[in-house]
Amino acid sequence: MHEVELSLVEMTLDVMKYAIHRITDRNPPLGSPITEKELRRLAGETITADGIGGERAFKLFRDVLVKTSAAIDHPRHLAFVPASPTRSAVLFDLVTSASSVHGAFWLEGAGCIFAENEAMRWIVSLTGLPPGAFGVFTSGGTEANLSAMVTAREDWRRRDAARARTRGIILTSDGAHSSVKAMAKVIDVDVVVIDTDGKLTGSKVTEAVESLTPEDRSRVFAVVATAGTTNAGIIDDLAGIGRFCRSQKIWFHVDAAYGGGALAAPSVRHLFEGIESADSITIDPHKWLFSPYDCGAVVYREPELARAAHAQEAAYLEFFYDEAVRGFNPSDYQIQLTRRVRGLPLWFSLARHGTRRYEQAIERGIELARIASQMISETPGLELVREPGLSCVLFRRIGWAAKDYRDWSFRNYKAGFALVAPTKWRWGGGEPETVARFCFINPDTTEKDIADILATMK
Ligand SMILES: *Cc1c(COP(=O)(O)O)cnc(C)c1O
Repeated sequence: MHEVELSLVEMTLDVMKYAIHRITDRNPPLGSPITEKELRRLAGETITADGIGGERAFKLFRDVLVKTSAAIDHPRHLAFVPASPTRSAVLFDLVTSASSVHGAFWLEGAGCIFAENEAMRWIVSLTGLPPGAFGVFTSGGTEANLSAMVTAREDWRRRDAARARTRGIILTSDGAHSSVKAMAKVIDVDVVVIDTDGKLTGSKVTEAVESLTPEDRSRVFAVVATAGTTNAGIIDDLAGIGRFCRSQKIWFHVDAAYGGGALAAPSVRHLFEGIESADSITIDPHKWLFSPYDCGAVVYREPELARAAHAQEAAYLEFFYDEAVRGFNPSDYQIQLTRRVRGLPLWFSLARHGTRRYEQAIERGIELARIASQMISETPGLELVREPGLSCVLFRRIGWAAKDYRDWSFRNYKAGFALVAPTKWRWGGGEPETVARFCFINPDTTEKDIADILATMK
């Protein structure tokens, strides 16, 4: 037994040494994927009756497994929505795990949930929602959207018993994130996708509803707008859509999973005008609020409606609702029951740095997008597809077809140099065009990084 304890200490030191190195490394190897077959060959059998030992397993992780996984916080990882968790937040993610706290109920997680809620209070303050509004951390934007849509649907049914078996309809736009459609499938509701040239407006929503049959119109229970489309960073006309939803008593959800961080950026805050009229808002701290995976958030204008939709009942759960220590139960406001206190890393990092540092780091992402678009405009052979939206830049290499973008992306990725993926952009009813895309989150990305990537498009 004594021997086992000693080797645990050694192993912990070894693992911690790696963790310290990785947390402080501002230029980690990008990593590059290989096939499962190759990994199988390199890894051998890892799960055996007697175990292969911590040392061997960790060596395998360090030397093979993590190297064939992309470092999403690499400064030249500009694909999809990258991430850039603060060192403090990553460090505290380790502490969150080490502390073994159950984050579902106040009765067990009181102090840690309190801290999580401190961070949430700041997020809520960014939205401009009225007093009483509050939120909860989720596994990500998908779960946040799902939790909000369930709350909306339950509220709609609660207001009229005749709707108990009516299949609902959600309206959203072609710029909405794929998770909106996917989650509509989960809750078995129909989705009407409104065609836009990027931005959904109040009048487009009005038109779309008016063009429905009276029966379908009575099935509409929610509109999902996007505040920072994942593809292009476009913010819908939140004020106009909000006004329409209020007049029709339709739930207004704003999906700001990616863009929500920019609520803290004074230079673009005005673009979100109207977000304060939302019934619910999704914001992913693991995107633009520098939290490690996975950490999303959903904020409700009236949290009580979420509780009515999500609180679970069971004989063995009653104890958690005892009056002895009553408090905020995160599990009452979203679909997950047992959960880690996933807002803790954000709390620690915010507490350490203060909110101003966050504002500055988010502004830097927006500034990098402006810098990149300037460079693109000045580079012969390259041109902007549109002005940057938040921190997303779409641009083309004149003369390139879809295959050229694909080959270019993989060349840079396989070389361990950069991960920049192509996307598609479509004007009005036109054919989608394959273009290149940058999304800036990481404040450590440099102007040289951008220039070096653009230079690979020659
Ligand atoms: C990323 C994103 C999502 C999905 O969030 P996950 O955290 O990946 O589940 C939803 N909506 C928008 C607008 C996003 O950018």
